[in-house]
Amino acid sequence: MASTTPAPASTSTSAPPDRQYLLERIGEAAVVQIYADGFRALPLSDKILVWHLAQAAIAGRDIFYDQRYAHNLEMRDVLEAIVTHADDVEPAAREEIERYTRLFWINTGPYNNLTARKFVLACTPDALAAAAHAAEIRGARFPVRAGETLDALLERLRPMFFDPAVDPTVTSKTPREGKDILTASANNLYSDVTMSDLTGFEEKHPLNSRLVKRDGRLVEEVYRVGGRYGAQIAAIVGHLEAAIPYATEAMAKALRALITFYQTGDEADREAYDIAWVQDKASPVDTINGFVEVYMDARSIKGAWEAIVSYVNLEKTTQIRTIAEQAQWFEDRMPWDPKYRKEGVHGVTANAIDIVIETGESGPMTPVGINLPNDQAIRERYGSKSVSLSNVNEAYDKSTLPEFRSEFSWTAEEAGRAMRWSAFAGELTTNMHEVIGHGSGKVDERLKGSPQAALREQFSAIEESRADLVALYFISDPKLVDFGLVPEDAHEEIVRTEYESYARNALVQLRRVREGTEIEEDHMRNRQMIVRWLMAHTTAIDVRTRDGRTYYVMNDPHAFRDGVGRLLAEVQRIKGEGDYEAARALFDAYGVHFDPALRDEVVARVDRLQLPSYTGFVMPRLEAVRNASGEITEVEISYPLDLAAQMLEYSAATRHLRG
Ligand SMILES: [Zn+2]
Repeated sequence: MASTTPAPASTSTSAPPDRQYLLERIGEAAVVQIYADGFRALPLSDKILVWHLAQAAIAGRDIFYDQRYAHNLEMRDVLEAIVTHADDVEPAAREEIERYTRLFWINTGPYNNLTARKFVLACTPDALAAAAHAAEIRGARFPVRAGETLDALLERLRPMFFDPAVDPTVTSKTPREGKDILTASANNLYSDVTMSDLTGFEEKHPLNSRLVKRDGRLVEEVYRVGGRYGAQIAAIVGHLEAAIPYATEAMAKALRALITFYQTGDEADREAYDIAWVQDKASPVDTINGFVEVYMDARSIKGAWEAIVSYVNLEKTTQIRTIAEQAQWFEDRMPWDPKYRKEGVHGVTANAIDIVIETGESGPMTPVGINLPNDQAIRERYGSKSVSLSNVNEAYDKSTLPEFRSEFSWTAEEAGRAMRWSAFAGELTTNMHEVIGHGSGKVDERLKGSPQAALREQFSAIEESRADLVALYFISDPKLVDFGLVPEDAHEEIVRTEYESYARNALVQLRRVREGTEIEEDHMRNRQMIVRWLMAHTTAIDVRTRDGRTYYVMNDPHAFRDGVGRLLAEVQRIKGEGDYEAARALFDAYGVHFDPALRDEVVARVDRLQLPSYTGFVMPRLEAVRNASGEITEVEISYPLDLAAQMLEYSAATRHLRG
């Protein structure tokens, strides 16, 4: 599972003061550069290891494009052909196509990553056609099929670029009455399959396959060498093999297991890989590469491809490691039915990391914290690894304006607390969310280690709620002072800051859903649900208005914590029993629907302050320096400060794999 909401980190000591973080704004999106300051100090062998793993990350990037939307790669080719040959394109059309292309890159296709809704080109089809022809004269190549003209290609893709009613939602967990969650979702994880088709069908490759109905029968197209995306996966395998000689023994074992899984695509090999990966606790470099998170699948079963390459940030890692070392203490005090408490907690590993590259579902939009593996049975037996992404948090923090906190604070004292402590409290909460949130608890044996299967489209939101609630519950425990996680004299203020900002967020996050009256994204659902549940069942949070502005005011930390404990007991019960109906009722009542007038008010307030709704990140760039015999003698890192240049470079690097 991954955390997506920025929990701004405390200010880094090593960052040069005047370098550029915020690069550009495109409508409600911001583009921000990520820096990996520790890379230059890594030993050469680690740098070479990172370089090969980064090549593997780029090699798989197109897999996620294709998973997210069947027309994504063709659409990207059209857009990139135009924006790279745009000298003679009419200026207004050029500006609009460039705007749309940037959003397309940030969101990996025409669907907003947070709302799941489609966004379209705001020029005419004729203007797009004129631009394409102007680019063609300048030498642009378009992805026409055999015998197809450029105009026929554009006509075929016209509904995808221009019609918001065609394939309107990438993932639709709560479609209108009677609609099926799979056919209502435009992603490419299924083709022509409904939920009722799946009754009695046993998937052999639940995580790493695309399900299609062919001649009335269900077929699993398995992602593996020689299978679906075979060329990309073979390229990934080649880079992983090249990386192995530079890896520690534990990491090499995990990489070999991953290669085997990519070759066979079999569940047993995926399990062997998960186990080898979670048992590599001490390597300074790590990678996540594969079909991992299930948020994009309305069923919460199919993994979206992603890759992350990182090294441990030693300076930042003390806090999260302390939480991991005390995992059993927390587990023993979870405010839920003791039968869901784990005994003999082991294998909990946690690190602060700096990422060097993220692709697929993790980039350009990135999580801030990750806890894996997602396989509940493996977590219960072998533990889990948690990371907080330090340099992502740093980049968020450096690109956030102070008004973001003050505009929605009821008092100057609240805003002042947020200035002083929200970065610290946010990082601590994210770390607890990952390590003792996702890492905790067990489920009824009846569920056979897969609460996903029982909770279906409600699973991810329930699991995110559980992790948030664990963090909110324990942040006020006096024991945190003994563990050295918070300074004693500031503990009360830190707790108040976190509870206040959590309540505010339920209001401020509405800016991200500019159309409609429903929240689709799981982390946003969970945060909405918790705050609205607390409003309904406790006296912890007031809704107040002043000068036509709405505020969510946290006014009683004790009532807040008490309510969190009660809700957490229920959420754990729902997961432990796989109680689908209770999960659905909980989110339907508190997590999904909101008042559009309130959202409009929030949007007006953030737009006046120019606050972004979401952020796409530009990754560092690596370049291998080779000697005369072709050996890598150094790996240089640089910072492109340019989203378009990086996206075009990545696309060019993998075009030959697409056949
Ligand atoms: Zn999470």
